[in-house]
Amino acid sequence: MASKSSRPTRAGTAQAPGSASAVSRRSLLKRGIAAATGGATVLGGASLGGQTTERAQTPSGSRQRFRAYVRFGTTASVRELRLLPISPRQVVLRSEAAQICYTTTAQGLGTANVSDAFIPGHGGVGTVIEVGAKVDRVAVGDRVVVAGTRQCGECYNCLRGRADHCLLTNGGGNPNAPVAEMLDGTKVSGFTPCCSELMVVFEESCVPVFTRLSSIELAMLHDTGLCGLAATMTKVRVEAGSDVVVLGAGPIGLAAIQGARIQGAAQIISVDPIRYRREAALALGATIALDPNVEGNNLVQRIQDLCRGKTDRRLAGGGNVGPDFVVEAVGGDLFPPKTEAGPDPTGILSLQQAWQLCSPIGHVVTTSGGHPPNSVVTIPANQWANGAKSHQPGNLGGANPMRDIPRFVRLVEAGLFNAKALATATFPLERTRDAFQAAADRTTLAAVVVYT
Ligand SMILES: [Zn+2]
Ligand SMILES: [Zn+2]
Repeated sequence: MASKSSRPTRAGTAQAPGSASAVSRRSLLKRGIAAATGGATVLGGASLGGQTTERAQTPSGSRQRFRAYVRFGTTASVRELRLLPISPRQVVLRSEAAQICYTTTAQGLGTANVSDAFIPGHGGVGTVIEVGAKVDRVAVGDRVVVAGTRQCGECYNCLRGRADHCLLTNGGGNPNAPVAEMLDGTKVSGFTPCCSELMVVFEESCVPVFTRLSSIELAMLHDTGLCGLAATMTKVRVEAGSDVVVLGAGPIGLAAIQGARIQGAAQIISVDPIRYRREAALALGATIALDPNVEGNNLVQRIQDLCRGKTDRRLAGGGNVGPDFVVEAVGGDLFPPKTEAGPDPTGILSLQQAWQLCSPIGHVVTTSGGHPPNSVVTIPANQWANGAKSHQPGNLGGANPMRDIPRFVRLVEAGLFNAKALATATFPLERTRDAFQAAADRTTLAAVVVYT
């Protein structure tokens, strides 16, 4: 087994052919870095494929200034920061775009006192401008999707196919280590920051992507879109010709609907209380969209009836009760929505219904969070003990970021996954708070902060 130091630079060997834009971007970056740091910044260039790929580090002690949305004290605001020197396995990216995840709205809009300043977020999209001395996965000039979850590829869970629960997520490195400081010297951390002109992340969070897709489309793949697609094509794979139900038609649910469509589902039933989200579901692949406030207590029965198939004759292949696959993407309300409220702000009802309505031999995939502490979902003991219904929970829908983000990029390139349709509102950094508010209010599908 090759030692780490002798491994080729993966990013360099995987550079897309004919990537004139990447070469141009790198040369521009090279000049930009040189200008910003006084010239002698590019170290250890490696010749790959006839081109020079910089394995560059800006000098330790870099004090580059940038702006970020920082949560500190009882407020959050855009502040000017100074970059701190990075550690050997860290990467600095110049941000292109980032989607605001609903889960982070509590951080971004919260008013509880925060004594240690931090930049909130669940990843983003950027271009590498600096790498630590031990970074192998990416090189200066690479476009990178920073996944909301790290993937080391070497820990116990990664080696057993559960990269979505990579142990480095919480155990490797210090998520509270400062990456920058305010101009008064107050230190600022940011584990997978989204609201920042520069992102400082560990290389285990970085997935290089070799594509000309727009930054906004890529921003739908670092968190919610990744989660929704993964819920239909990773740990549990929707089968062609099947009946699929997706509870919730936010960014995760709409990505799951598209995933089910891509996998060839015959019927895709969307459930969401918000009218514009049901309309989006129908536009993106759902075959029927139901309002849980209208269906009320009849929702489970209604869906099961829709999935009974052409016959009840068991010797003719009939007798199915309920959908083959159910993806739950609802979750608890962190803020009251400014749109149509659902029947249960805790999100527990949807978890319960996902299990109830699924076929006795079907698969339930749950993706959501935000449920009240100590809340409980009840499953009949005989179903739990010796039934055939399966449940697959998963961080990011069970995604394996290094494997799945590049292939999901290809789904966008092939016109199969419509990422643009999900990014319905964009904001400059100065309006990051508005982006968080739009996500919290659910007045837009996906709020994306875009950097120029
Ligand atoms: Zn998230
Ligand atoms: Zn790992």
